[in-house]
Amino acid sequence: MTDVRAGAEIGEAQELAPALGKVVDVCRRLLQFDTSNPGRDERPAAEYVADLLTSAGLTVHVVEAEPGRTNVVVRIAGRDPSLPALLIHGHLDVVPANPGEWSEDPFGGDIKGGCLWGRGAVDMKDMVAMMVVVASEYGRLGRQPMRDLVFAFVADEEAGGELGSGYLVRQHRDLFAGCTEAIGEVGGFSVPVAGGRRLYFIETAEKGLAWIRLTVRGAGGHASMTHPDNPVVRLAGVLARLASRPLPLHLTEGVIEFIETVSRLLGITVDLTDPGEVEDFMGRLGHVGRMLQPTLRNTLTPTVIEAGYKENVVPAAASAVLDCRFLPGFEGVLEQELEDLIGGEATWEYLRRMPSVESPSRTPMLAMIEAALVHEDPLAVAVPYTLAAGSDAKWFSELGIRCYGFTPLLLPADFDFSAMFHAVDERVPIESLLFGVRVLQRFLDS
Ligand SMILES: [Zn+2]
Repeated sequence: MTDVRAGAEIGEAQELAPALGKVVDVCRRLLQFDTSNPGRDERPAAEYVADLLTSAGLTVHVVEAEPGRTNVVVRIAGRDPSLPALLIHGHLDVVPANPGEWSEDPFGGDIKGGCLWGRGAVDMKDMVAMMVVVASEYGRLGRQPMRDLVFAFVADEEAGGELGSGYLVRQHRDLFAGCTEAIGEVGGFSVPVAGGRRLYFIETAEKGLAWIRLTVRGAGGHASMTHPDNPVVRLAGVLARLASRPLPLHLTEGVIEFIETVSRLLGITVDLTDPGEVEDFMGRLGHVGRMLQPTLRNTLTPTVIEAGYKENVVPAAASAVLDCRFLPGFEGVLEQELEDLIGGEATWEYLRRMPSVESPSRTPMLAMIEAALVHEDPLAVAVPYTLAAGSDAKWFSELGIRCYGFTPLLLPADFDFSAMFHAVDERVPIESLLFGVRVLQRFLDS
């Protein structure tokens, strides 16, 4: 619990502005910690975060599922204890980076061309820095938000969160007592559209994950002979079928709401019963279309093939791993779609499953998000959307918390945000970061 002084006034924007500018230094420093997962651990970065929060007068909880895999949680007491608490979560780990491929040192935290460069610049040390700066301001000035705010800086998201949010949810759920809603990745970034409006995509749903192993078996034997049941060849046939037959369209409530909202803003109509028209519509949305297209259907993507061990031996089995993503409510449908494509040629088993997430979009929460955005960007419109990938929301939703993707960033029109995730030369515009921290603070104050 915190020891914030009660009764301080909220909303001293002028007084707060210089402190919020620290977000750039904090983000730079965070980028300089190599928290690659797998490979490195989060403890040095977590200690840096914990030290900043502690020196702002806040009381932090530091917990580790394994040595070095550090999570930091801080609660700031709100003025109205009858209100539910809000969770704000961000992960400290990043995917690895190969320095040879980058124009700048991925762990240098360099500033070039108005951007902060480094692995994690958008995924998601930008938000972590905003969270640290805003939380510290509550502590430093003894300000109290309306409701309890719980800031969680977690480990291990990039490997599924077992040692991070998963561990906290299973072993330390008391830290989230009273939390009914959460914000985290992925959402809150701007997309310019016709008519001078800027859309801010707010994640209200995300697809579930299923890693599946397909196995084809045969007799195997000497490679000099003919093998009509060669598992290597038959597996290749199954995979070719997966690639050549896209799965059917399924429009979830969330995706329908997204299409209706955006098409209305664009002044066009989309016939939702016409799959071609729906696909074209997503394609029209520029570079974000690539992240929206997979929200129209389940996906089955081969990522690993394993077969054979010697040049002159036909193996008795060949297998492939599929990364499958299913829409909320369509997990059973995915299984049927897979069976139909396999056609009895292969057996399959789950290697890992994580649920889909769906939170209501017509809530006061979304209105508060939009109000905070509009205050800093009068052209802003908050648009609920479905994330094709996954996040720590999967774990936190196990506690019954309604999760939203909101890490606010006003981006330059030509900035291909979705292409930055896990990419070479990942970077975030400094102006976007400054915008984000102002919006985040306004939102948390509301
Ligand atoms: Zn992330």
